[in-house]
Amino acid sequence: MQKVSMVIPMYYEEKVVDECYKRVKGVLDNLKDYEYEIIFINDGSQDKTLELLENVAKEDKNVKVISFARNFGHQAAVTAGLKEVTGDVAVIIDADLQDPPELIPDMLKLWEEGNEVVYGKRKKRDGESIFKLLTAKMFYKTLNALSDVDIPKDTGDFRLVDKKVVDQMNSLPEHNKFLRGLWSWLGFKQYAFEYERKERFAGETKYPLKKMLKLASDGIISFSSKPIKLVGALGIISIAISIILFIYAILAYTFKFSGLSAGWTSIIVAISFFSGVQLLSLWIISEYIGRIYDESKGRPQYIVEKKINIKEDNKTD
Ligand code: UDP
Ligand code: MG
Repeated sequence: MQKVSMVIPMYYEEKVVDECYKRVKGVLDNLKDYEYEIIFINDGSQDKTLELLENVAKEDKNVKVISFARNFGHQAAVTAGLKEVTGDVAVIIDADLQDPPELIPDMLKLWEEGNEVVYGKRKKRDGESIFKLLTAKMFYKTLNALSDVDIPKDTGDFRLVDKKVVDQMNSLPEHNKFLRGLWSWLGFKQYAFEYERKERFAGETKYPLKKMLKLASDGIISFSSKPIKLVGALGIISIAISIILFIYAILAYTFKFSGLSAGWTSIIVAISFFSGVQLLSLWIISEYIGRIYDESKGRPQYIVEKKINIKEDNKTD
């Protein structure tokens, strides 16, 4: 019998745990040709999430729980879940039921037909603020303009992935994985599965602006080296402008068509402009250097505090 593995990250989802488990289990129990496992990752929530997950895992041996020592972020949580997948196919889904688990049978059908990655593409997004929709749109636009692989817009982490692709993902050495981009980067036979994104079942989004910005910059920096080239272009432009200004100043002085006070103004403007350019450049470069530094430390993407219903082999996380 084939086996499907669910990967579900949770961060402060105490209001959602039971309903999520019930709905997902309901769908999986109805699959005749499949066994299943549900891997929940508690991403360092300090509320009752872990306690509730432990209760579920006690009753149901198909439920596995990984609990992080602190909040390491959504991408880290999914990455950790993927490492524990033992099924033939994995489905990554948000805990808040915005992505309906009822779609899983259709996705599995597409997998049986030979698709190796079936990714959810949002047709409609209920209950999300205009701000969120707008920023999401801007993010995908920028990312695709800058990056070298095509990252489909309106897709999140909701997707079905063949075990062989999961293995490839697990074997990538980078620590700060931006999964959405990496799935595209890996290739394989991909299928865009359109669906309507629902409202959150309960609780609030765990993606405040700060986390969204971090995800956006992770995505852009890890999928493109164009920003660093932009720094070069800015440098050349600013040198050109300063040369023009220099010539202008000399001419103005020689032919006295502009008083010195105007000169002072232009100097101040020039100084502030160029220090602006330099700061901007330094910031972009430091993003890359920071990334290199992070990777060179070789720290894991997350620390697991506890595992439930998962056999320990000597696998390192
Ligand atoms: N999540 C997580 N760690 C975080 C933030 C979010 O594991 O630091 C989980 C969260 O519990 C949910 C999923 O990631 O299952 C998506 O988060 P959310 O629904 O808050 O994001 P949105 O749908 O608003 O983009
Ligand atoms: Mg959500």
